[in-house]
Amino acid sequence: VFITFEGIDGSGKSTQARMLAETLRATGKDVVLTREPGGSVGAEQIRGLVLEGDPDRWSAETEILLFTAARRDHLEKTIQPALDAGKIVVSDRFADSTRLYQGITRGDLRGVVDTLHGLMIGREPDITFIIDMDPATGLARALSRQTSEERFEDFGEELQKKMRVGFLAIAKEFSDRCLVVDGNRNADVVAAEVAELALERLA
Ligand code: C5P
Repeated sequence: VFITFEGIDGSGKSTQARMLAETLRATGKDVVLTREPGGSVGAEQIRGLVLEGDPDRWSAETEILLFTAARRDHLEKTIQPALDAGKIVVSDRFADSTRLYQGITRGDLRGVVDTLHGLMIGREPDITFIIDMDPATGLARALSRQTSEERFEDFGEELQKKMRVGFLAIAKEFSDRCLVVDGNRNADVVAAEVAELALERLA
């Protein structure tokens, strides 16, 4: 079973991914916790290329190719082998992030993202948790822990708002696999709801 977490920066999705992995492990399940961009040796190297240095280094189109290349490597080396071994894979971000960050923020490139996804990735998660969060709160959280690695220092409240609307639209578009959870609450409360929904679907 392949589970992903998506949401705006500062939504708490990384914390929730980790907490769900721990909860599932506590019930005896074999879980691989991973993330994007990254999640395999090659994909982590591509993460460095994309997130470090000059934000204008890559055109939007090249960036889509790099994210897709990273995802392909992540899928080949980490996700698919784990799924084949019967494990549960929990990933902090996957293709929905690219549909939005690369698909709508630097022009209308959603079609390019989808075409490459169909050619090179060709699979969706079984369950996607969209952690919904107030854009301003998320922004404040993301800025307070921003590291020098991140090139996305240009993100502001307008982008956060646009991304929130985008994630809610993704939830409707892929309603078979997406579950929206209110992230504007204590992390333990959010985690309990996520765990309940996940265990329901895994049963
Ligand atoms: O999820 P995480 O905080 O590790 O993501 C690092 C940065 O990369 C974030 O600021 C996010 O906005 C950006 N990102 C992106 N395109 C993606 C995935 C992440 O621009 N497909």
